[in-house]
Amino acid sequence: MKILRKAGELRDQREQNRRQGIKVGLVPTMGYLHEGHNSLLDTAREQCDLVVMSLFVNPAQFREGEDLSSYPRDEERDFAIARQAGVDIVYAPEPDDIYPSGFATRVEVLGLTEVLCGSEQGRGPGHFSGVTTIVAKLLNTVDPDVAYFGQKDAQQATVITRMAEDLDFRTRIVVLPTVRERDGLAMSSRNAYLSPESRERATAIWAALLETEAVFGKNGLDAALDAGRSRLKSAGIEPEYFEARYPGTLDPAQEDKEEAILVAVAAEVDGTRLIDNILLEPSKKQRSTK
Ligand code: AMP
Repeated sequence: MKILRKAGELRDQREQNRRQGIKVGLVPTMGYLHEGHNSLLDTAREQCDLVVMSLFVNPAQFREGEDLSSYPRDEERDFAIARQAGVDIVYAPEPDDIYPSGFATRVEVLGLTEVLCGSEQGRGPGHFSGVTTIVAKLLNTVDPDVAYFGQKDAQQATVITRMAEDLDFRTRIVVLPTVRERDGLAMSSRNAYLSPESRERATAIWAALLETEAVFGKNGLDAALDAGRSRLKSAGIEPEYFEARYPGTLDPAQEDKEEAILVAVAAEVDGTRLIDNILLEPSKKQRSTK
């Protein structure tokens, strides 16, 4: 496994690969790898000839006061996991190489980035432009045939898919299912912040989403959202949002449409901000026979 720090080294490598007709897969990460990342790496390994994993805690997507400086990092451990997963190249640049002095460009997807995590109460309007700017740079540098993202960050997946389409990136964006702990908690590098008590309480997030799905099947969307929200409340969790939206447009979902609905939640559990989501399929709704 090669560890490259400079974009130029990666580009030289890509030139060689292209001449050989090699299919390249990219898995962008911020490191502190867990099973969720592993599932992306495994799929990339299965589907591609050469797997590149980027490892970069991207300052541009953190807001003032967020956890940029305390974000969990362990490069050596990540390299070992990546090696084990069959990664060919880890691209682990330094912030100054990604954003050298004079850097002045932002890639911004409109609309989709202004709701949920992108709202002022969430991570703010600059968060997703930080994400799309780094992902656009990675797609240009690595020039992968396929790039893999997780459904855990559903809004991010929607935004990146939109960007890749709008800006004519040739890379295919693939979104893979959320990997969970045995008790349902979505795996996340930030779970490392949770005390044993908070970790226990955090299980209410997935329980609330399952409750939402169950009630949706019987009583429809509004009742389902009420049920999910009250499940969270009974665990003492006040969500930042708990909303139903259409997964492609992120427009608010309506009760009577026969389309898949994304129910997405963000909540702070004892100071740690966690996100999760579930997709409700209209086929799960019982039809009433009048
Ligand atoms: P991160 O390192 O948190 O920026 O995540 C890197 C990639 O892994 C993103 O595409 C995430 O959506 C994905 N990811 C993170 N957690 C999970 C999970 N529990 N299941 C599946 N994918 C995940």
